[in-house]
Amino acid sequence: GTTDTTELLLSRIRDVADHPEPGVVFKDITPLLADPVAFTALTDEFAAIAARTGATKIVGLEARGFILGAPVAVRAGLGFIPVRKAGKLPGATLAQSYDLEYGSAEIEVHAEDLSAGDRVLVVDDVLATGGTAEASLQLIRRAGADVAGVAVLMELGFLNGRARLEPALGGAPLEALLQI
Ligand code: AMP
Repeated sequence: GTTDTTELLLSRIRDVADHPEPGVVFKDITPLLADPVAFTALTDEFAAIAARTGATKIVGLEARGFILGAPVAVRAGLGFIPVRKAGKLPGATLAQSYDLEYGSAEIEVHAEDLSAGDRVLVVDDVLATGGTAEASLQLIRRAGADVAGVAVLMELGFLNGRARLEPALGGAPLEALLQI
């Protein structure tokens, strides 16, 4: 996007020290969501990525990927698919577990929501270690769908999520609007 858009988006993200635990700088996007100009600019940037990558569906990662991804789907004229933490979706699911610093986590998608012929763009707010996004790409591929790419508002470069994600991307782009 333009420098103006980049600066607008950056100015609407609040750093919260030591949240949710000591040593973590939490990137709070609620000021961005509360500003319709910034939220619209972000949605337009993501919708342009969806068009450029030939996406046919938008996957949003719980929970902020829902807030950011749903308007992208509407703007781009594509369906929205939620990838949720395990145990939330009522129907038949595909599940994927992944490692955290301590322990592991599991995400799920409704099996009927993705199939061969779909080209999926994954949307989230922050790429940190890349574990969540990587697991979502594994789910998408296991469903038989193709990966159009991953689009995030922010990439925390010092956590090397891009390198972790690379094999699962299989040549598809990781687009980060802001580099932190
Ligand atoms: P990861 O799987 O490590 O890439 O973590 C990504 C998920 O955790 C995303 O859904 C983010 O919303 C959230 N997350 C990780 N680190 C931060 C952070 N510093 N600030 C805000 N959200 C974060």
